[in-house]
Amino acid sequence: MNRREFLQYAAAAALALSAATNAIAQSGNAETRQNPIDKDNGGTNMKHELPALPYAYNALEPHYDEQTVRLHHDKHHAAYVAGQNKAEEMLEEARKSGDFALIQHWEKQLAFHGAGNYMHTLFWQNMAPNAGGVPSGALAKQIEADFGSFESFKKQFSAAAVAVEGSGWVTLAWKPEWKKLYILQVENHQKLVIPGVLPLLVLDVWEHAYYLKYQNRRADWVDALWNLTNWPDVEKRFDGVK
Ligand code: MN
Repeated sequence: MNRREFLQYAAAAALALSAATNAIAQSGNAETRQNPIDKDNGGTNMKHELPALPYAYNALEPHYDEQTVRLHHDKHHAAYVAGQNKAEEMLEEARKSGDFALIQHWEKQLAFHGAGNYMHTLFWQNMAPNAGGVPSGALAKQIEADFGSFESFKKQFSAAAVAVEGSGWVTLAWKPEWKKLYILQVENHQKLVIPGVLPLLVLDVWEHAYYLKYQNRRADWVDALWNLTNWPDVEKRFDGVK
């Protein structure tokens, strides 16, 4: 086999391997679709999928209106999933072609849309109909240890949410290395975080999250969240990482 033949052979082998990998990934996708929230691991060649809402569109009324929930999930969250898939696809293309001219653009798109997808997935699970109240168990103890009391935590979280500059989030996050909970503002979906923190509770304060019902009254939207907070979900996340 001369060099030219070898290169042709190598290219054909690579294509065959790639096709086989795709086939495996696609056969896995059928299962992924059944429970995308738990199964979406973003592995090689796996497309991220929009997770189904864990409740009906109108289930969070009157605090969170059906029309906003529908648009927020079906349009906004869906766009982040699509944007993440696109960025991952284009980065794969760049690796194949060796052309990294647009690397900065696609890396930024990956961070923005990937974080957007992740934060929204948490956001929907962090809420539940007829929820709210106060946390219990290990999480309640940790909140008291790190914030003084649940009331102090709540005040800081609300104040931080209302004060996010422009579009963003507030999150209660656990930093495993420091064994400490933090309240962090997040600009866009990904800026201002301490690397390595694990968000447990997130609140979306982008205008798209609340403007139809609350208009410019972001503080009212933040207040409304406390009637929807799914503490068992937040506690479960904490128990899994503490
Ligand atoms: Mn949003």
